[in-house]
Amino acid sequence: MKQYDFVVIGSGPAGQKAAIQAAKFGKRAAVIERRAVIGGVAVHTGTIPSKTMREAVLYLTGWNQRGLYGYGYRRNPQVTIDDLMQRMRITLKHEIEIMQYQLARNDVEVIQGIASFSAEHRLQVQSAEGEILEVEADKILIATGTQPQRPEGIPFDNTTVIDSDGIVNLKTLPKNMIIVGAGVIGVEYASIFSVLDIELTLVDGRDALLEFLDREIVDEFVHYMRQQGITLRLGETVTGIEKDASGRVMTTLESGKCMRAELVMFAAGRVGSTADLQLNNAGITTDKRQRIPVNEQYQTVTSHIYAAGDIIGFPSLASTSMEQGRLAACNAFGQSSSSRPAHFPIGIYSVPEMSTVGLTEQELTAKKPLTKPEQHFCGKPPEAKLWGSRTGCSR
Ligand SMILES: Cc1cc2nc3c(=O)[nH]c(=O)nc-3n(C[C@H](O)[C@H](O)[C@H](O)COP(=O)(O)OP(=O)(O)OC[C@H]3O[C@@H](n4cnc5c(N)ncnc54)[C@H](O)[C@@H]3O)c2cc1C
Repeated sequence: MKQYDFVVIGSGPAGQKAAIQAAKFGKRAAVIERRAVIGGVAVHTGTIPSKTMREAVLYLTGWNQRGLYGYGYRRNPQVTIDDLMQRMRITLKHEIEIMQYQLARNDVEVIQGIASFSAEHRLQVQSAEGEILEVEADKILIATGTQPQRPEGIPFDNTTVIDSDGIVNLKTLPKNMIIVGAGVIGVEYASIFSVLDIELTLVDGRDALLEFLDREIVDEFVHYMRQQGITLRLGETVTGIEKDASGRVMTTLESGKCMRAELVMFAAGRVGSTADLQLNNAGITTDKRQRIPVNEQYQTVTSHIYAAGDIIGFPSLASTSMEQGRLAACNAFGQSSSSRPAHFPIGIYSVPEMSTVGLTEQELTAKKPLTKPEQHFCGKPPEAKLWGSRTGCSR
């Protein structure tokens, strides 16, 4: 039996930062990771692969130069999947080395295997070879993240019908593609692939895209997507996805519309990675998307077990997961920490990108009347030095 002050399940952004924070308090800390390599979704299938692919696409196609040389400008008219993957391999290798070094430098032990609770303070870790290691800890953090939802009836084959994890394993670039799900992931990939001149259709049951953003920003973005040739099928429900005799995938909508494409990416939601954890042995239950509820301290209902990162839900970003992990470790060892920020910055790495922080114009309008006149930032600014050169009423 191995004993620790702090054990983290999951080596993504939340788990890494939490373990390092605990180690900096002088605690004996370990991270358990079921994959052969640390890093989580952020490194293997999510943030860094998708952002690296975006950068490769922009560079190789010459998209950033089209304002100067015209819309028809193509730096490399025949970008291949190998061109994109080459950059991804180099970037990911570099990232993984940095993370391994950070954990090693802080004396955080990495245990490879699938963790499950056998009691409130005890975990079993099953290695790839089937060996079982027993681990005991005073405090435990669950940072197991999420995985793509794979509804029954969708014929995923990891080649022509994939989820968002499947992008990193593509063997060729399709001529045409349907993306089901116009959340952040769907929108980002749709706009990135359209830059490669792939014929793109984006389908979503909702009538509007990215409802948490300012409407004006979204309207501009939709205008751009249409200009780019992306077909938007909003307010449409997918009723069937099947392969036809030619190997293409036919997607049928409730409205009766039918579309064929070489590739379908199903990106309609993610669920918490809790299936292996045996949470019942720790007295913890999940919500209907298998996420774990926590209080303001990131504590679960079992007070020495914390949870942070995507597994606790919104905003499910790498940056916020890191901070939540760090705060959870501070709370676990009674160390003071800054409080949760009221607003998280949100970056959407579509082409073009969008970013935002704070309330939208629609939310602010709905909040009327404002109680303090200075909140309008009109006339004389409240604290000129705080706002630098962009002080004051901008219109
Ligand atoms: C396509 C895509 C693009 C994204 N782009 C961005 C972006 O641009 N910016 C941004 O901020 N965020 C982005 N994200 C979100 C970001 O990747 C996540 O917010 C972040 O990875 C969550 O970190 P985490 O530590 O909570 O979990 P994860 O990174 O999901 O890591 C969880 C780890 O736990 C491990 N695990 C699970 N169960 C067990 C078990 N029982 N035993 C042992 N190990 C286990 C998993 O193998 C995994 O390694 C993107 C996500 C996706 C899918």
